[in-house]
Amino acid sequence: MLPLKYKNRALWVTSIVYYCIFDRMNLEDISTLRSLLSIPQNIVVVPHKNPDGDAVGSTLALYLYLTGKGQKCSIISPNDYPKFLKWMPSNEVILNFEKAPGKCKRILEEATLVFTLDFNDFSRTGALEGPLRESNADFIMIDHHQQPSDYAKVTYSDVEMSSTCEMVYNFIEYLGDAKTLTKSMATNLYTGIMTDTGSFKYRSTSSKTHRIVADLIDRGAENMEIHRRVFDTNSPSRLHLLGVALKNMVILKEYRTAFITLTQSELDANHFKKGDTEGFVNYGLTLEGIVFAVIFIENREEGIIKISFRSVGSFSVNEFARKHFNGGGHTNAAGGRSDTSMKETLTAFQSALTLYKNQLAV
Ligand code: 5GP
Ligand code: MN
Repeated sequence: MLPLKYKNRALWVTSIVYYCIFDRMNLEDISTLRSLLSIPQNIVVVPHKNPDGDAVGSTLALYLYLTGKGQKCSIISPNDYPKFLKWMPSNEVILNFEKAPGKCKRILEEATLVFTLDFNDFSRTGALEGPLRESNADFIMIDHHQQPSDYAKVTYSDVEMSSTCEMVYNFIEYLGDAKTLTKSMATNLYTGIMTDTGSFKYRSTSSKTHRIVADLIDRGAENMEIHRRVFDTNSPSRLHLLGVALKNMVILKEYRTAFITLTQSELDANHFKKGDTEGFVNYGLTLEGIVFAVIFIENREEGIIKISFRSVGSFSVNEFARKHFNGGGHTNAAGGRSDTSMKETLTAFQSALTLYKNQLAV
């Protein structure tokens, strides 16, 4: 038996060590998760609307982990995801709420545990928002966006993380199951980390991210093949559309800003398919001296203009999107929407820009 003096010191040292290892997830949360997962649950995993590589990769890896532990698990996506992600291991299990609302609602009603991945608020799930709010299940949030809502029994939120996939890797490690990572799980996690870090170049890419990625490769993730499947499977129409987008680019040198517009007619003329405009917004930032890049894409069916914002440096597009375009995200990557016409949206955008003259002007 240790005297109390040493016991307290041992506890203190253990806490520090745990804090360093487990960064943003505390011991109490880990023990809650352990006990939740020690009994059979009906689990549903949910990504955000228009899921990207990180959302799809994290939900699939978590699904594979949970089913590997013998849990009953489903993935319900609010809507479809791009074709360039449709090769990801086990992606065929993903249920599409838009296509099968009845079935998805039934599964959600029976859920005892719901993991919400890569988003910070139910409003990010489109038509799934209502059914999620009505659910009596316990919620677990794993996410790296700013301002997380308070709906979960366990909130694992860390805005410094490169991706939700990096967090799912940590999550599995925290639960002491790192050894159970299979090639399929590694492939899904690698894909999400790669896409959310712009191929390991954004600021959130840490040395830890690289260590995780190295481990994923050791576990069978074929990095070259994953890169090819995501980035080198373009259709001719996507590249033609990119040509239109780049031609439409407007440069506002005085605000170090570049923006692109794509109207529904331009999308139609180039046989637009979901995912075709992914990454277009980043081209603005490849111009020398530009720190703020935006793309406005008309969506006639939803009657909105979908907007993507990107920045380099300290200009927070999360704040800009929240304040002016009903959106949010991260400091350097955010999204939003406008319910007015393209012309009115652009007028509103240019007038909002003037409020940031101090931060943006040269
Ligand atoms: P993207 O521009 O690629 O759609 O999204 C960039 C980032 O902003 C992603 O992390 C995404 O989750 C977030 N985001 C995109 N659209 C919205 C939105 O309408 N609302 C909020 N809160 N975040 C968004
Ligand atoms: Mn993400």
